[in-house]
Amino acid sequence: MDLVTPATPTRHLLDLSFDDLETLFSEWGEPRYRARQVAHWSLKRGAVSFEQMSDLPAPLRERLATEFTLAAPAVLATTTADDGSTVKALLDLGGGVAVETVRMDYDADAPHERERSTVCVSTQAGCAMGCVFCATGQQGFTRNLTPAEILAQVLHFTRSGRVTNVVFMGMGEPLANTAATIAAVRWLVHPDGLDMRARGITVSTVGLRAGIRRLAAERVQVGLTISLHAPNDELRRRLIPTAGGTSVDDLVEAAREYISANGRRVTFAYALLDGVNDSEEQARELAARLRGLQAHVNLIPYNPTAGAGLRRPSRERVRAFQRALQGEGINATVRVERGVEIAAACGQLRTDYARRELLTLV
Ligand code: SF4
Repeated sequence: MDLVTPATPTRHLLDLSFDDLETLFSEWGEPRYRARQVAHWSLKRGAVSFEQMSDLPAPLRERLATEFTLAAPAVLATTTADDGSTVKALLDLGGGVAVETVRMDYDADAPHERERSTVCVSTQAGCAMGCVFCATGQQGFTRNLTPAEILAQVLHFTRSGRVTNVVFMGMGEPLANTAATIAAVRWLVHPDGLDMRARGITVSTVGLRAGIRRLAAERVQVGLTISLHAPNDELRRRLIPTAGGTSVDDLVEAAREYISANGRRVTFAYALLDGVNDSEEQARELAARLRGLQAHVNLIPYNPTAGAGLRRPSRERVRAFQRALQGEGINATVRVERGVEIAAACGQLRTDYARRELLTLV
């Protein structure tokens, strides 16, 4: 007699929403509260198999296991920095695709800091936006991640400790994968999911206007960061080749709409590149574009990536840029750098890993 091994299901349970779970269980003739039980196990308790769900009847666990998987991605590499308060993990999503996720712990004793633990997630493998200063952008786009693959990055860290904040700032453009980004956010804030505060979640975009509109319309109430990196369209198109038809004014307008729809402040990210976009005159030009907007500018001194040919400005130039913005009444801070020694700029761990793998192959 031939032994037939049942195929392993490939559909991940967390690609379903909470409403989908309720519908599924009602179709299966199960009580409504099953959705809450399964959500608790999958998110709050970080279960990786239905076997672990000890308060579910065995036949239901078996049925779930024949249709869905809850498996967590294998960890390919982990690096730590900043005395262990920055941890970066490279997760294997199969088919040669790996994504990175970073946890940064902030100490309440540090000036201007609340005690928090922030996870930075990737939303795509690679990225099609092609920002000239970004390692991921130079590698090109592979594919969108699913909601379950985005959540897996947060769950990787919640299994070993508390996570208070999530920022969508890893590899990829979240608003080029808006449906999966919003689905992941809904599980992060759902009371039967990870039950996080929407205020603790930030979506960072290079400025896809349709995506910003959709995020506003969905009223998920998350913080929004728009990467500007330039005070005018001509320079911005050079730094972000795909910025194309979206002007700085379009983005300021999109920010205005987001603020009025969500009542949340919008942050503009500005990577400072030595001699490119970091003069005091450019700071004043930027201030003029943002005047009257309830906005905040986060200055990010560039973290050089191999081969990009761009430099980090001196501390003095960074301070002068910040002071010029503040002098024009614009609220501006300089990002506290984390994990510089483990290359925390997006895409860099993956590049290092790929390089090591190549080295072991030749
Ligand atoms: S900076 Fe962000 S949007 Fe730009 S290429 Fe890199 S990952 Fe993509």
